[in-house]
Amino acid sequence: MAATTAYKVGKLIDGNGGPVIDNTVIVVEDKHIKEVGAASDIRIPEGATLVEEPGLTAMPGMMDLHIHLCMFNNLTFKNYRVAQWEVTPELQQMYMLFHAQLCLERGFTTLRDLGIMSTRGLMTDQAVAVRDAIDNGILGGPRLICGAFTVGTGSHLDLIMPRASLRNPEATADGPDEMRKLARKNLLKGADWLKTCASGGGGTDREAPDVRNHTQEELDAVCDEAHAQHHFCSIHCFTPDAHRMAIKAGADTIEHMVFHDEDSIARIVEAQIPVTPTLLHRTDHAIEIRREIGTPNFTLEKMKTIQPNCFNTFQVMHKAGVKIAMGTDMGFEPDMGSNASELAIYVDLGMTPMEAIVTATKNAAEALHRQEELGTLEKGKLADIVLVDGNPAEDIKVLEPRENIKMVVKEGKRFVDRREGEDVRVIPHEYGSWRIADA
Ligand SMILES: [Zn+2]
Repeated sequence: MAATTAYKVGKLIDGNGGPVIDNTVIVVEDKHIKEVGAASDIRIPEGATLVEEPGLTAMPGMMDLHIHLCMFNNLTFKNYRVAQWEVTPELQQMYMLFHAQLCLERGFTTLRDLGIMSTRGLMTDQAVAVRDAIDNGILGGPRLICGAFTVGTGSHLDLIMPRASLRNPEATADGPDEMRKLARKNLLKGADWLKTCASGGGGTDREAPDVRNHTQEELDAVCDEAHAQHHFCSIHCFTPDAHRMAIKAGADTIEHMVFHDEDSIARIVEAQIPVTPTLLHRTDHAIEIRREIGTPNFTLEKMKTIQPNCFNTFQVMHKAGVKIAMGTDMGFEPDMGSNASELAIYVDLGMTPMEAIVTATKNAAEALHRQEELGTLEKGKLADIVLVDGNPAEDIKVLEPRENIKMVVKEGKRFVDRREGEDVRVIPHEYGSWRIADA
């Protein structure tokens, strides 16, 4: 018999951007939402488990579309240059799962991981294995969409590793044919998305953000190969020229933006390509964390210089009607699991709290081409539900403290329950109880 649960809550945010609805019932049968509506209209099926929380708000599981779960982290390593040499892909793969769980326990049920490489090579295999272990139900975690680096020698994403480090020649490709081959290899390994870069970037040493990374032909080859195999391609872009190249190549999402001109904004609006702003790691706080873990001065200065452009471009995009899908670019900083703080920045920069919520729900699902099953709390969709203490449509910051996220349900299954008398966790130990590896 199908397991049925009825969530009877004080408020509902369905993810579509409309007004908050009072006194609602969501009926979940196995993995899917069977019914949603006013408590007065819905008959709770006999034998259903009742979760009755008049003081809580139900909302869709949130999504972060730009994260690097396999990146060296400052939760247990306080010196990232040391970590880059001392952490094997095998250990980092375990961190990847842990990072993903830290996001799930804060209400993020879907993460698009945008890849990483190590001195041993791309970490596509590791990421795909974590995704599949979660999908198969042998490990608890969020739904992962795996994006794999498909980039050239010395490109921005190659420079995430120190310039002096040995490199696996298999990790990068040059020229359209080689790029196509690397794309095919990544897709063969099971990647869902490809990730490439059209310009330089922020967090890398001795690299100007406005250099060109690939030729148009190379970008075209990567996007074409993704599309030919019914997959998608996201392109890291910092400059208007990079935006134009990405649009021409047929990018499915544009990452960061940073700089813009009138023409690049108009083209993005016209092409209806979702943009992932990644502002959380642009804040003073994030730059300070980078300083503490030993990031070179060149990079810190660059991060400070581009900060106002990132915030200003976001405001221009929002006013122009660019479809914004939430993404943090979390890797080094600020803190795995603090994804919702990205939404508070959007609100500070002019979005309403509801508009910000939509970037992490409906818009994110549409950017992933998964809107048929994800993103909103509607009949027939997968039951990814978060119960929050407070009303995020009034105060977006209620999504930030861990203790406000009372329950996290993914595909009908309860992974977190912090309500009184309940203790369901995806991470078995207390937050922060781990050893600092290089202290
Ligand atoms: Zn990134």
